[in-house]
Amino acid sequence: MIDYHVHTHHSIDAEGTVREYCKQAIKTGLKEICFTNHCELDPFRNDSLIRFTDHKQPLTREALLRLQDEIFREREFFRRSSLKVRFGLEIGYYDGIEPYLKKLLEDINFDFLLGSIHCLDHICIDSSKESSEYFIKHSASELLHNYFLAIEKLINSQLFDSIGHLDVYKKYGFGFYKEEINTVPEEIIRKIFRMMKEKKIAFEINTAGLRRINQFYPSPSIMEYAQEQGLELITVGSDAHRVEDLGKGIKQSFEYAKSFGFDAVYGFEKRKATKIKI
Ligand SMILES: [Zn+2]
Ligand SMILES: [Zn+2]
Repeated sequence: MIDYHVHTHHSIDAEGTVREYCKQAIKTGLKEICFTNHCELDPFRNDSLIRFTDHKQPLTREALLRLQDEIFREREFFRRSSLKVRFGLEIGYYDGIEPYLKKLLEDINFDFLLGSIHCLDHICIDSSKESSEYFIKHSASELLHNYFLAIEKLINSQLFDSIGHLDVYKKYGFGFYKEEINTVPEEIIRKIFRMMKEKKIAFEINTAGLRRINQFYPSPSIMEYAQEQGLELITVGSDAHRVEDLGKGIKQSFEYAKSFGFDAVYGFEKRKATKIKI
């Protein structure tokens, strides 16, 4: 079992230290844990932050190097256990992030970069507080169009190894738009998966939805298109923001993947994918 989407207290919306997560990983039989703390950089928002002990500070290159040091120390500490400790980030993508992001991450030794769309028009659609601000200004089809356009740009940037929670808009969108939010236009989703295959970027089965809305991200209807387009690269993650959620739903996510014809998930070391049979 592996978990490739984990937030520690370094993310301002999460708790639990690297050490605590690693201990829990060993206790629950995980073979790999990949820390993917938030990296939000939008200059129009006030959330480009990272936390060390109790202090929040701007998410700078120096801060990322400090985070790297800590994770590498813990990797060393657990070296003799069966646990592989990976260093990743979950980057909130927006159009135009590329030059700044490249500079920020240059020569930092990441294993895995997860790209996610959290915001549209600088509004977090993945937030209970903010999402309605976006929803009231847009129809469901506009939201889907704009969201997947952002996903296209994310894929084209070729900066990421996998795409996080591909249909995260349904988390709060379902309450607002009802069934309409589940109708993703065929041509858009087919194009997205064709591009992912071509650019060799994975997508994630994220189990946080199981805990929130009793569904995986992405939904079965989207998984069917992935199967149809012959996608192979998938990653799995709990999106844990506290230690007790680590690894939750991963076993079910393997069954879910298998039911759409996948026979493996992928782990990453120094940005290179390794196939893990399921
Ligand atoms: Zn996310
Ligand atoms: Zn996350």
